[in-house]
Amino acid sequence: MSAYTLLSDPEQKAVEEAIGKAELRTSGEIRVHIESKCREQVLDHAAYVFTELEMEKTKDRNGVLIYLSADDRKFAIIGDVGINSKVPKDFWEATRDEMLKHFKKGDICEGLCAAIAISGEHLREYFPYESDDVDELPNEISFGK
Ligand code: CA
Ligand code: CA
Repeated sequence: MSAYTLLSDPEQKAVEEAIGKAELRTSGEIRVHIESKCREQVLDHAAYVFTELEMEKTKDRNGVLIYLSADDRKFAIIGDVGINSKVPKDFWEATRDEMLKHFKKGDICEGLCAAIAISGEHLREYFPYESDDVDELPNEISFGK
């Protein structure tokens, strides 16, 4: 399956809107990256993509990447060092579980939107939204090969 066809156009829009909404709660920056296949260990690869997308360039190092491969249905959610230095070790677990619940039903869009909403909710505790907030990273989904 191509990364581009995993989500319909309206679904892609829904995901982007979910990111926009979540980023009104937190200064954290959330991105979604979709590829067709993940050829290595998913966490390693997500870390690679994080750097490729220059997601470490936020002021507070609070970027969050939700990585998903369409064919093998692997996914990972990772945060930058600014987040990892503040939050408990199991910080992403609830988000991951919620995402997985929807993915198991085949509902990718719901899973992504739910994960984005929960991430925003959790992040606000550590990185509240600031009135002079800048949208540091694009909310559009990024697609790999
Ligand atoms: Ca922002
Ligand atoms: Ca953004």
